[in-house]
Amino acid sequence: MSDPRRIVIIGAGLGGATAAATLREQGYPGEIVVLGTENHRPYELPPLSKAVLLGAADEPDWVRDEGFYREHEVDLRLGTTAVRIERGARLVVDDRGGEHTYDRLLLATGSSPRALPGAPDVRTLRTIDDSLSLRDAFSRAQRVVIIGAGWIGTEAAAAARRHGADVTVVEQAAAPLLPVLGPEIAGVFQDLHTENGVHWKLGTGVAEVSAGTVRLTDGTLLRADLVLVAIGAAPRVDLAHAAGLDLADDGGVAVDATLHTSAPDVFAVGDIASHYHQHYGKRVRVEHWANAKNQGAHVAANLLGADQPYLRSPYFFSDQYALGCEYRGLANVDTDQLVVRGDLAKREFLAFWLRLGHVVAAMNVNIWDAGDALAALVDGQLPATPEQLRESDLSALAESASGR
Ligand SMILES: Cc1cc2nc3c(=O)[nH]c(=O)nc-3n(C[C@H](O)[C@H](O)[C@H](O)COP(=O)(O)OP(=O)(O)OC[C@H]3O[C@@H](n4cnc5c(N)ncnc54)[C@H](O)[C@@H]3O)c2cc1C
Repeated sequence: MSDPRRIVIIGAGLGGATAAATLREQGYPGEIVVLGTENHRPYELPPLSKAVLLGAADEPDWVRDEGFYREHEVDLRLGTTAVRIERGARLVVDDRGGEHTYDRLLLATGSSPRALPGAPDVRTLRTIDDSLSLRDAFSRAQRVVIIGAGWIGTEAAAAARRHGADVTVVEQAAAPLLPVLGPEIAGVFQDLHTENGVHWKLGTGVAEVSAGTVRLTDGTLLRADLVLVAIGAAPRVDLAHAAGLDLADDGGVAVDATLHTSAPDVFAVGDIASHYHQHYGKRVRVEHWANAKNQGAHVAANLLGADQPYLRSPYFFSDQYALGCEYRGLANVDTDQLVVRGDLAKREFLAFWLRLGHVVAAMNVNIWDAGDALAALVDGQLPATPEQLRESDLSALAESASGR
């Protein structure tokens, strides 16, 4: 590949903005154009369901300071949506009539919250504007119903309780966060919310949402001043699809280990990227903060021809009431062996998931001095026995298992 003179980035969120900043920080001298639908400069989403929603902050965490883009000659076009990619002409057309030719194109369009069909008067949470308006609504609502007990649903439930609302969470599965954490660890989160006054309607779906009521498939009628739908997100791949790029079975844009799409000059990062992960020997698509940030930083060199595989393990964090946690790796909770070190009831523990005797995922809950050891165990998928994980010095274990 020859050196690109102009790189166009579609999506001014965490992945896109991190790529632009990294290109400059690594000395790329060419033109960078970043198109972003929102009118805010690029920001990180995690505070939207935590500090901002709780009322502890009025702004998200910005990816870079306000002056960064101007000072580094990044042509950041806010309030501008890319509407078409013409691959033959290497051109992106935006909704303001702008046309942007590119030598390399990066797609970082993120996800849209999934909607509940036939329920127009409900809220979703994706942007800073959603978060500020939801916070205001939480402070006035008496009865809040949250549909979906994933990370955003449970964090929002904690915030709504902080605002004093009566909160019911509806979830199809038998426990919150069940597919990610499995029953034992999911139970910790369920108890935490129950102790904080959240009501659960588990194992049931939603039949209908109408003015002031939510009717469940088990016949229950819940009254609500406010309904938040938090049933996951769908990758925004319409542009990529229309441009004829390959999509993966998981709905994302198919990229190889170097984050390269099926088109020669087009890359993708963040929520939309279904990338071939060499450690797992399969495609993974990760809708988490660290993935967008790390892939955004990683792809910068590849846009310039480096061709380096992205090998980082998935990582995410959550804060709910007084519980803080981090999770690394990718477990299959139905088949991997769970090992717990510490006290589930006190909510101070480490959890490990073992597959064929190797650590494939680990979680720390209210324990903050084990991060490096957990990262080493998970990143290397190191061998360990349940006894070692429960009793050994984890740094020493990681060191000896990795042969260092
Ligand atoms: C409320 C909330 C809380 C979260 N909390 C956590 C957390 O605690 N921990 C964690 O690990 N992860 C968390 N996440 C997930 C994490 O923030 C995302 O995985 C990450 O932001 C994805 O980055 P991205 O760059 O792929 O997309 P985004 O950050 O969504 O950015 C995509 C941007 O592209 C723009 N865009 C889309 N289409 C176009 C177009 N055609 N033209 C121009 N612009 C376009 C969008 O408007 C958007 O601004 C949270 C997500 C949400 C919504």
